Amino acid sequence: MKFFFWQKPRSWQKYTAYSIVGLVLIGVFIVYSVLSEDEKAVEKAWSTKNSTQSATTSEVTLSVEESMQQLLEGNKRYIEQKLAGKEINQEYRQVLKEEGQKPFAVIVGCSDSRVPPELIFDQAFGDLFVVRVAGNVIDAVAMASVEYAVEQLHSPLVVVLGHESCGAVKAAVDNCCDAIDNPNDSNMNKLLSLIQPSVQEVKKEATQDAPLYEAVTDKNVAIMVEKIKQNPQLSTLINQGKLSIVGAKYHLESGEVDFF
Ligand SMILES: [Zn+2]
Repeated sequence: MKFFFWQKPRSWQKYTAYSIVGLVLIGVFIVYSVLSEDEKAVEKAWSTKNSTQSATTSEVTLSVEESMQQLLEGNKRYIEQKLAGKEINQEYRQVLKEEGQKPFAVIVGCSDSRVPPELIFDQAFGDLFVVRVAGNVIDAVAMASVEYAVEQLHSPLVVVLGHESCGAVKAAVDNCCDAIDNPNDSNMNKLLSLIQPSVQEVKKEATQDAPLYEAVTDKNVAIMVEKIKQNPQLSTLINQGKLSIVGAKYHLESGEVDFF
């Protein structure tokens, strides 16, 4: 007995039905593939982060030595132009937004446009906490930034990074040393008054090998390193070996960073 609404489908009806089912299946497959590609991209961002940027994961905090190693290797890759090709895409930004930052080093560098820390150490977002001001000087505001990175973000390494042919150092030398006595005369005087003690120190030391500007650059880095080391808020971590403050100098032509 046949129901009144049931009729044996004709062949064209069958093929139409098969085609619709086929198209639906293909659609489901495409949607699934796109979704899993998105997941893969996020997974890739994670794995890249974990393999080459492990310092920035919330579970792992690098030691002082490991952090230094990351910077040395990064600078070597930059000089040899064998960059790690770190992720700087949307997926990785998403990871950093969700996880927060865990920079493995603090760089106190000069604002000079030729010395961008992320590039010269071949690092990506989330790797370095950078404090940049002309002449890589430490005043109260810069010190507060360092304290924040060390105490809140647990960065184990602070690098004061000077560089060759620094304009701020040159200005401090060429105008030595009125700014020390009149630091409030201008904003520029405030800056130069922080560098000029280095000029005086170098001039006192009769046996200087390097040209004056470069010797002052090195002395300025050394004084800033000492200033951070003397910060009572950081001394416990330094004494425990969980924090290291070091000086370094970037060479404009070779791209090399020398650590003192
Ligand atoms: Zn500079």
